[in-house]
Order: sequence, then C-alpha cells, then structure tokens
Amino acid sequence: MAGQTKKSETSSAKAFVCEHCQKGFSKETVLAVHNCETKRRLAQEKESGVRLGFNCFNQFHRSLRSTAADKTYREFVDSPYYLAFVKFVRYLVEIRAVAPESYCDWLLRNNKKLDDLVS
Ligand SMILES: [Zn+2]
Repeated sequence: MAGQTKKSETSSAKAFVCEHCQKGFSKETVLAVHNCETKRRLAQEKESGVRLGFNCFNQFHRSLRSTAADKTYREFVDSPYYLAFVKFVRYLVEIRAVAPESYCDWLLRNNKKLDDLVS
C-alpha cells in the first residue's frame, strides 16, 4: 500500500509573500496569479504612456527641488501622483498633443494643476 506522506508543515504560514503589497499566500501559484495595484503598475512600466507619465513626474520633481536626483520608477508607482500623471498623459494622447514632453514642461513652468487640466 502506497504510503501517503503526511506533511506536518505549518500550513498556516503564508510562505509566499507578494513583494509589492506584502500580502501573504500559502501557494506559489496563487501568488503568481495574484494581482494588486502595485504589481499592475510595475507591469506597465514599458508602456509608452506610462513612461511619458514617469518622465513628467520626474520633471515635476526637478521643478520642485533643483538638486533632487531622479525618482525611480518604483517611487513613481508608489507616489500619490501616479494616477494624475498617467491620466494627464492619456489626455495628451487623446488631444494628440504634438510634443507631450514639452507640453508637460510648459505646464509645470506655468504652475498648472494637473487635475484642473484633465478634468
Ligand atoms: Zn501584491
């Protein structure tokens, strides 16, 4: 008779933790299909719209603090401004802005509020 191996593991421990939201899962497969906002945002890093939003975000930060180093993409993702910038870039694409990055630059220099423009 084939012995059933009973694993006496501490099954309550969530061995697989999402590195983005720190949520724990008991199975690796569940973690793999798990999707959270941060994971989704990180996966979109290569999208042109998101990249442009990221560039604008850095322009925005440079305009605030002259000596600041550029922010990382991860910092952008965690930033409360993430949605505002991505929304703004989608808006630029929608109106077919000729040079979105210059537009972004102009916007920041003139102290326009992103939310005012997009809404
Ligand atoms: Zn997660």
